[in-house]
Amino acid sequence: MRSHDVVVVGAGLAGMRAAIAAHEAGADVALVTKVHPVRSHSGAAQGGINAALGNRSDDSPASHTFDTVKGADYIGDQDAIEILCQNAPKEIIQLEHWGAVFSRQDDGKIAQRPFGGAGFPRTCFAADLTGLVILHTLYTVCVKYDIPTYEEHFVTELVPDSNGSCVGVVSYDMVHGTIETIGAKSVVLATGGAGRVYRPSTNSHSSTGDGMGLALAQGVPLKDMEFMQFHPTTLNPSGVLVTEGARGEGGYLLNSDGERFMSKYAPNRLELASRDVVSRSEATEILEGRGVNGSVMLDLRHLGRERIMERLPQIRELAMAFAGVDPIDEPIPIRPGAHYHMGGVHVDSWGASPHMPGLFAAGECACVSVHGANRLGGNSLLEAVVFGARTGDAAARHALESVNGAQSEASPAAARDYERRLQELLGRTKGPKQHEIRDVLADTMQEKVGVFRDGSDLADAQAVVHDLRDRFKSVVVDDKGKTFNQSLIHTIETGWLLDLALSMVTGAVERTESRGAHSRTDYPERDDENWMKHTLSYLEGDQIRLDYSEVTVTEYQPQVRTY
Ligand SMILES: Cc1cc2nc3c(=O)[nH]c(=O)nc-3n(C[C@H](O)[C@H](O)[C@H](O)COP(=O)(O)OP(=O)(O)OC[C@H]3O[C@@H](n4cnc5c(N)ncnc54)[C@H](O)[C@@H]3O)c2cc1C
Repeated sequence: MRSHDVVVVGAGLAGMRAAIAAHEAGADVALVTKVHPVRSHSGAAQGGINAALGNRSDDSPASHTFDTVKGADYIGDQDAIEILCQNAPKEIIQLEHWGAVFSRQDDGKIAQRPFGGAGFPRTCFAADLTGLVILHTLYTVCVKYDIPTYEEHFVTELVPDSNGSCVGVVSYDMVHGTIETIGAKSVVLATGGAGRVYRPSTNSHSSTGDGMGLALAQGVPLKDMEFMQFHPTTLNPSGVLVTEGARGEGGYLLNSDGERFMSKYAPNRLELASRDVVSRSEATEILEGRGVNGSVMLDLRHLGRERIMERLPQIRELAMAFAGVDPIDEPIPIRPGAHYHMGGVHVDSWGASPHMPGLFAAGECACVSVHGANRLGGNSLLEAVVFGARTGDAAARHALESVNGAQSEASPAAARDYERRLQELLGRTKGPKQHEIRDVLADTMQEKVGVFRDGSDLADAQAVVHDLRDRFKSVVVDDKGKTFNQSLIHTIETGWLLDLALSMVTGAVERTESRGAHSRTDYPERDDENWMKHTLSYLEGDQIRLDYSEVTVTEYQPQVRTY
């Protein structure tokens, strides 16, 4: 059986940054990933990464902190947000020194574009391929450090010891068709988001919330699951993302009357209000009959060919391929779409789970929480690198210093136990297929747990999810093969999507207020007296049990939020 000091599950920005930090702290660290590292969803990130670099003397990490606290609708933890914003410039410079090619100003400094909810232009970018550039940069560092990488390994379970510490993972090696235990003193979950709970979604097909599902199965709670971000500009009907950078570069939003309707909803920041505000405004225009075939229009024509080709080349290609329009000549039909999940595995500001010693999480699968009820664009890549680095470092320290025999080692028997359960699943011949269940789930979430919610829709959705979880108990996998069994993998992922959907809906039913991305038409006001708190969800049998925890406020008391 193989084992390492630190095993990092996931090789996107958060996972690779964590592995680099753990390696630099002296640990033997390995990456385990279901897709090749450079195919992680981080590579699809377009618009950029935030940092108050000091290009402008009036911007500062403190101002970035305030914008993030306000964007989060006041339930981000302010101590964690300070860490995010203060470490941002250092991380950008580090990425640059490792070789990330950021776009430049004429004087050679790293260029920064305006982004939603930000008081200053502070989003660093590499044209509209920022995630891809950073992902490849981190990959070269992992290769340079010779960090062992288990590619096309699908982690199916966390391994606890008798004291409840996390001591490894069970993994399906798709290439060889084997199931094995990989032992570890610390396990870092960096498995990305859960956008595929919805359809359409901007997320890649691999964003199925696996790390959250793995944690939930061990009794580890998830935090703030009711907060799903709908990005204002996704192509209709494919759900492919058009970066916020398009509005950052000066794009307008128009309704069917050709009106720049954001002047009604956010008179100061217009198209660059925060995402929850812009998505609600678009949805209102469409619901009140001022849309165009279920969309509104994103107009870039006035930017001119040269700027579009220099700053937004990928957006032009995507618009031509998926919407049949060339944004140089025509506006792009767009609408709000499921994009980013603010919730995740409940961890502290070192990425450690207070509920399972040895378990850590970073990136989109974690909830520290820096995004609260609504994430600002450009803050997620930042969270992945800043908290990836901190978490990798903390996981290495846990493995090297504090363990000292207090944890027992993972046993190869964990894999054998799992294999026996898989045989049972594969032996089944009659029952529903995973895709039938997954399609109903994603459509229900889209329809009933969307930009606007109300008690009755949420109750309907909850009943559907319970029913689907029941049906899933007799799910059938047609492919009985050992190697590259995608049908099996999708089935296991669907199980997690169902668990996550149940915690999202249950949290949303109970939160009787509107805050950030959770907008209830039956409770339209924010209610600080009763709801300035994080939701924690535990899976107990077939039910989600909710608990709540305090929000850390350091400097900024809640204010009315306008843009
Ligand atoms: C289209 C798009 C554009 C975006 N643009 C921006 C932007 O401009 N700026 C910004 O700040 N944010 C942006 N975001 C959000 C941001 O990209 C993500 O939140 C961030 O990249 C997530 O990084 P991560 O490392 O947590 O996860 P990911 O990059 O999603 O990586 C997840 C990793 O986990 C592995 N994995 C998952 N499950 C398992 C398993 N069971 N076993 C083994 N391995 C597993 C995968 O193989 C993968 O390597 C965008 C998101 C999307 C979808």
